[in-house]
Amino acid sequence: MTYPIPVNEFERLETLRDYRILDSDFDERFDSLAAIASNHFGTPIALVSLVDDNRQWFKAVVGLDLRQTRRSDAFCNHAIASPDAVMVIEDATLDPRFSAKPLVTGAPHIRFYAGAPIVAEGGAAVGTVCVIDRVPRRFSEADRHMLMRLADHALALMDLHRRNILLREAAERDALTGLVNLRGLEKAIDRAVSATLGGQTCGLLYCDLDQFKQVNTASGHAAGDVVLRETARRLQSAVRQGDLVARVGGDEFVVLLAHPVDQSVVDLIAQRIQHGCMAPVMVNGQPVSVTLSIGAARAPRDAILGSDLLREADRALHASKCSGASRFVIAGSRGIPAAGGEDLASSELAHAIAHDELFLEWQSCHDIATGAVSSYEALVRWQHPRLGLIAPVNFVPLAEASGLSGQLDAWVLFNACNQAAAAPADAQFSVNLSGQWIANGNVLPLVRAALERSGLEPARLTLEITESSTIGDEQQARGHMNELKALGVKLALDDFGTGYSSLAYLQRYPFDLIKLDHGFVAGIGTEPRGARLAEAVIRLAEMIDIGVIAEGIETPAQAELLRSIGCRLGQGYLWARPRRMPWADPAPRPAA
Ligand code: C2E
Ligand code: MG
Ligand code: MG
Repeated sequence: MTYPIPVNEFERLETLRDYRILDSDFDERFDSLAAIASNHFGTPIALVSLVDDNRQWFKAVVGLDLRQTRRSDAFCNHAIASPDAVMVIEDATLDPRFSAKPLVTGAPHIRFYAGAPIVAEGGAAVGTVCVIDRVPRRFSEADRHMLMRLADHALALMDLHRRNILLREAAERDALTGLVNLRGLEKAIDRAVSATLGGQTCGLLYCDLDQFKQVNTASGHAAGDVVLRETARRLQSAVRQGDLVARVGGDEFVVLLAHPVDQSVVDLIAQRIQHGCMAPVMVNGQPVSVTLSIGAARAPRDAILGSDLLREADRALHASKCSGASRFVIAGSRGIPAAGGEDLASSELAHAIAHDELFLEWQSCHDIATGAVSSYEALVRWQHPRLGLIAPVNFVPLAEASGLSGQLDAWVLFNACNQAAAAPADAQFSVNLSGQWIANGNVLPLVRAALERSGLEPARLTLEITESSTIGDEQQARGHMNELKALGVKLALDDFGTGYSSLAYLQRYPFDLIKLDHGFVAGIGTEPRGARLAEAVIRLAEMIDIGVIAEGIETPAQAELLRSIGCRLGQGYLWARPRRMPWADPAPRPAA
């Protein structure tokens, strides 16, 4: 069906959309205006009508049970063709343009129409204020004048409507980057999460710049601002249409991933973000490098409330931060089967760490000749609310795989040092650290803080690092190990003999001590060359001035054999199983 289209139609529609009023909620002020028009002119029907692309939509209605009609049926569509004049149709049945229209031939049986265009600044007529009757009428010059004034009022109300929206939005925007701020994000998350009740999905990527403080300190706040704005831009170009990027704190950004979101979408966008942010940002001609850590969570999988979803993503980010810069961790990523055969989720482990579901047992090491205690090793356990007691072999690998090892080690360090500080003054202690984490820059400040807060003397602490291929960047790891030794703590190479690079490890890293693995110890009585090999290792250690503790000694015969080949220290069920210690009362949680 054809109808007149104003010459400035494109601009007209742009102007109308700019008011953000189409499909908005009822507004009493517009309703009053329509009521005044209907009263004043004594017509049963009065409208504030906005002429959209294919429809007219009523912002206010008196006397009609309609919110919109097709544009081709609309009288108002003709009225906006002459923005300067009121269009009056005294009897529609006599006007060939309207006599056959469904609104004339059927309900509401329009006979009389008078419409004053609502003309926006710039000249575009976006709609009308109109009055309608079911009988023919006349309309005086004064009536026309009055209707025009009402249309001006309608325009003033529309301006007000737009200004309110902009103000509200400004309160939900971050001034520096132009992104949505936390307030705006929370609203958007709530909307997205409510939609999950209807079967939709959504997700969050919580991103944090790794070295932002250094940028601010080294290059000044203006440089920091450049980095933040550029990061905002890069994030926006990494996400999909429909995803929302928000800045929620100094150097923290959150991406709200719109439906559909599954693991592959989360992985893909996280990867695109990390990739997109890799290039240095140019600040005053100087390249500044920053990397991002990302934590991810999905709804309804990880949370069903908006606030919980944000917290889960934040927690995953925290895990990713602890495990080293530029990491990506997913909340609730499924993991290692526990003893009961159930999959343990990393989100459960993160929760366990945060809520003290973990506790420590201590196992003593002994002088093999005299049986005297030489030290105690802290061994972590997880008291799972549903699955019961879980051994470290069932969750330490999960912590490593999901980037939680930093958090786990921090928990163990703080608690172990606190407990150890309460033990008899001459005892020595050891704590296991994930090898993956030793290359991370946080390890030194963390150990220092644990020692300072507990008051434990550094010389009483040994850090055990398992021989593994995941020790990370060699040079960094060695640097951190030397710094730790400079603090006064000792380093032990745990499970020596199980890996494939033991000797290389001794060459590369400054260990004070090796712990001969159970398997090695079990072999001394059973393998043909077992005892000779053990002896060779003990001699070798002696030659390079490294101590030895044999692990997993279960029988007096094993102890005797080890003693006879020169091994002074041992650990195993022969003397003691790991257990809670009387001096190890529940200690305060680390605040870090
Ligand atoms: P590990 O550091 O070599 O610890 C010794 C393990 O051998 C302990 O098992 C201990 O209970 C067990 N054990 C001690 N004596 C005997 C014995 O005579 N016979 C046998 N069969 N086993 C013995 P647990 O507590 O299950 O710990 C296993 C591993 O989990 C540890 O090996 C260590 O690598 C890791 N782990 C334990 N606690 C922590 C921790 O706090 N942080 C980290 N990162 N890893 C930990
Ligand atoms: Mg150990
Ligand atoms: Mg060991």
